[in-house]
Amino acid sequence: MIQHEVALDRFNTFGLPAIAESYLPLTHVDQLRAPVFKTAPDLVLGGGSNLLLLDRVPGLTVHVLLGSILQADGKGKFRVGAGVDWNQFVRHTLEAGFGGLENLVLIPGTVGAAPVQNIGAYGAEVAEFITAVHVYEYGHGPRQLSPEDCAFGYRDSRFKREEGRFLITAVDFDLSASRPLKLDYGAIRQELERLQISSPGPGDVALAVTNIRRRKLPDWFFLGNSGSFFKNPVVPRAVHENLLREYPDLPAYPIDEANVKLPAGWLIDHAGLRGHREGAVGTYSGQALVMVNHGGANGAQVLAFTEKVQSIIQEKYGVQLEREVRLVGQSQKRG
Ligand SMILES: Cc1cc2nc3c(=O)[nH]c(=O)nc-3n(C[C@H](O)[C@H](O)[C@H](O)COP(=O)(O)OP(=O)(O)OC[C@H]3O[C@@H](n4cnc5c(N)ncnc54)[C@H](O)[C@@H]3O)c2cc1C
Repeated sequence: MIQHEVALDRFNTFGLPAIAESYLPLTHVDQLRAPVFKTAPDLVLGGGSNLLLLDRVPGLTVHVLLGSILQADGKGKFRVGAGVDWNQFVRHTLEAGFGGLENLVLIPGTVGAAPVQNIGAYGAEVAEFITAVHVYEYGHGPRQLSPEDCAFGYRDSRFKREEGRFLITAVDFDLSASRPLKLDYGAIRQELERLQISSPGPGDVALAVTNIRRRKLPDWFFLGNSGSFFKNPVVPRAVHENLLREYPDLPAYPIDEANVKLPAGWLIDHAGLRGHREGAVGTYSGQALVMVNHGGANGAQVLAFTEKVQSIIQEKYGVQLEREVRLVGQSQKRG
């Protein structure tokens, strides 16, 4: 049933105050037959961990709560409802003896949102494991999309590019293939050494990643945030080479022959902005790429702070930072 004037404060990990004009909890796919789904809602909400909400979300917010593991063949194939908590699903697969998702442990949010920005961490991306995405196409009906149809990219997919066309209802994963563990990212190897694990399995890697993430990232329950706020910018190699003259330690990760990816956190950190705070908003002291709500901030304040960070980075390095988080809603005029 559609409710009106619903507070979304509890439904976004930044802990920002926002009111949805209309709000519909989606608990069963049959609800998608309602006439209201002939067109796209104004916001499809999962765990609210990749959103920057302004005061008011006009129109209809649909909260995807389609939760449960719908099918598991016992051999590593899973069909999972879009509302299932991503981390719980990862842990379930590991407990069931299937490796693959261990590097993606502890990422907040829902299974249904994972394909939207092709979530990734520690050298893995969810697209590697997806065999189909089940969607409801507004005005048409249910469809099944292949990974090719989804056009996955770095923190990107068709769902981002064609926002307002599909609601993801379930995702199919194949974890049946045995893959080599990915240990060469972040401090995974060092953490395994610290844990005195010499022949790790997927569960050990998940433990190492969990420990690293807990040390590096703030717990949004206590300090509101949406993880990495900006994407790592992709720039031509020549831009990196120019920057190296002034910043010889600036790391870069190859993308292709012509381009490299620069760590946005490094750029912000070396601009002296790590731990910087203005009022209730700031960058996290442990990781400059994470913007935090120290308590009582609203979306407009976060937006203003992050635009300032973008302009400082542009001025210092000539590099444009692009938001990874989606900006939603409108600010109310304040008197
Ligand atoms: C502490 C922290 C750490 C994080 N670490 C990482 C990380 O390591 N790697 C990474 O990639 N991300 C990371 N994130 C970002 C975030 O966890 C992911 O983007 C996650 O997939 C968002 O899921 P969600 O359910 O919260 O989506 P929401 O924030 O609710 O929505 C995100 C977008 O997806 C759309 N959407 C949500 N559900 C559906 C659906 N069922 N159908 C269609 N569209 C939908 C929304 O409309 C919106 O555009 C982190 C966030 C936090 C707070």
